[in-house]
Amino acid sequence: MQAKDYEKFIHVKESPIHGKGIFTSVDIPEGSHIMVIQGDVISGNECERREEEENNVYIFWNGDTYIDTVNTEKIKYINHLCDCNCDVIDRDENSLWLIAYRDIKAGEELTIDYGYDEIYEWCKCALCA
Ligand SMILES: [Zn+2]
Repeated sequence: MQAKDYEKFIHVKESPIHGKGIFTSVDIPEGSHIMVIQGDVISGNECERREEEENNVYIFWNGDTYIDTVNTEKIKYINHLCDCNCDVIDRDENSLWLIAYRDIKAGEELTIDYGYDEIYEWCKCALCA
């Protein structure tokens, strides 16, 4: 399946991990490109300002560019899990790919490792506990 097809099967629902999360209603094989992560492209300073003043926690970084996904319908809700089933890879200057890190079954919540230090302090997963 193409990435644009997978995105149709990603749904936002209440999550057992935190708040809302995104879930797949189809099986996704390891390595599949699931969806494009894109949004407002902002500077590092603007990223800091939005995080501090607006409590914006929806900003991705691709190594060069900060991408604010606050106005997206789905990807903004992806939750952190240390034992995650998805990964984020480069796509182009202003976007990223969400890919399947392992085989994902229909009904599973999609998760990534947010990868910044503070996350492991409040993460409640078995690895962190
Ligand atoms: Zn954890």
